Amino acid sequence: MDHTYYNEKICCADKGKEIVDNLHRMSIINQQILSAIGNIYTAIYQIDITAGEIYCFKDDMVRINYNSDCKFNDWIKTIVPQYHPDDRDKLAQFLSLEKLADENALGTKTLEADFRRDTGGNYSWVANTLIFDGYNGGPGLVILVQKDVSSRYEWIQPLEDELECARNSNTATRDFLTQMSRDIRIPLNAIISMTKLAIANMEDIDKLGKYLYTVNESGNQLLELMDKILDMNEIESGDTKIQRDKFRIDSLIKEIQSIIEPDLMAKSQNLVVQYSNIRHTKLMGDKVRLHKIMVNLISNASKFSYEGSEIEFTITELSVPRSGYGQYRFEVRDYGIGIDENMQDRIFEPFVRTDDSYRSHIPYAELGLAVTKNIIDMMKGNIKLESTVGEGSCFTVILEIALP
Ligand code: ADP
Repeated sequence: MDHTYYNEKICCADKGKEIVDNLHRMSIINQQILSAIGNIYTAIYQIDITAGEIYCFKDDMVRINYNSDCKFNDWIKTIVPQYHPDDRDKLAQFLSLEKLADENALGTKTLEADFRRDTGGNYSWVANTLIFDGYNGGPGLVILVQKDVSSRYEWIQPLEDELECARNSNTATRDFLTQMSRDIRIPLNAIISMTKLAIANMEDIDKLGKYLYTVNESGNQLLELMDKILDMNEIESGDTKIQRDKFRIDSLIKEIQSIIEPDLMAKSQNLVVQYSNIRHTKLMGDKVRLHKIMVNLISNASKFSYEGSEIEFTITELSVPRSGYGQYRFEVRDYGIGIDENMQDRIFEPFVRTDDSYRSHIPYAELGLAVTKNIIDMMKGNIKLESTVGEGSCFTVILEIALP
């Protein structure tokens, strides 16, 4: 027996087994490395620039219908439409074979770019990193890894929203100022024309009386407008401080009634005041501003209701929220024109004008509710609106007011 031959045979067999074992071990290690990298990246591909092929190691886009080993240009055609329309050209350019070949020839090591991918209605930011094989102008193998980096962009969205908000607010302010200049001209023109007529008709007492009445009305409208602009300006500048005066709630309501009385009489309207469950009448808070809130709500109720209609003003003391305070609900309900559902959310914003034909007979500002809401916010209360067009509106204000 030729032992040398036999031993060589055993030796070859051992070597072969060793090679197979090594390959097997390598393959396991490769799998482990890939699975570890796969924990970081959502997708891993290898692109063969020369063959124009892509091999997929891992892919999160289950919905893509392509083979794991396919032509790169076919793959890119399925990928690009899944991205944001504004990013599609940039992505196609970033991953074009020509670009990859150029970068490879230049000895580029890595390249990264983020694009927005559609994830069923929303867009998530995907970082695409290209890792070149490292041999300058070498065989042209590139690894492409992708991962979700939406969190990097989270801070951008609020800034963009803020910018959009500022733009809208500028447009609203500009529109408002244009409209306001027109609104100021109406009573101002009336005052100028009526005083001219009065001067020309000094002897006619009846006519003089009518002219003076219009001058007075127009002056009051101007004053109301200016007051609201000043209030809004004061609130927006942050100068407003909530006062703590002692007052009686029933006296405050009586004052409000007497202020509003002329408006109600002019439209033959009736204000029904109801108190419910009032346990504390002596309070301590910003009486002037409470007055302003209620007068604004009741005068709106009167303006936007028909002649002869009824307005309900109900004051309820709610259960005691914390010691030293009383909690009050003020409800102003009218049976007037109501407020369109689309406008209900925006009605408390400054400089937003409703556009209704009824409104065209009534003077302006459209700041009253914005001022009202701001004061209520400063008092840490809340205001709610329920309204149905053609049936009427109910504004509910809830406030905590200190007890003396
Ligand atoms: P203004 O300061 O001009 O009175 P507001 O800010 O108080 O304006 O109100 C803004 C708009 O809200 C009004 O122009 C009107 O269209 C609508 N509105 C307010 N209150 C009522 C109400 N009770 N019924 C119907 N519409 C109302």
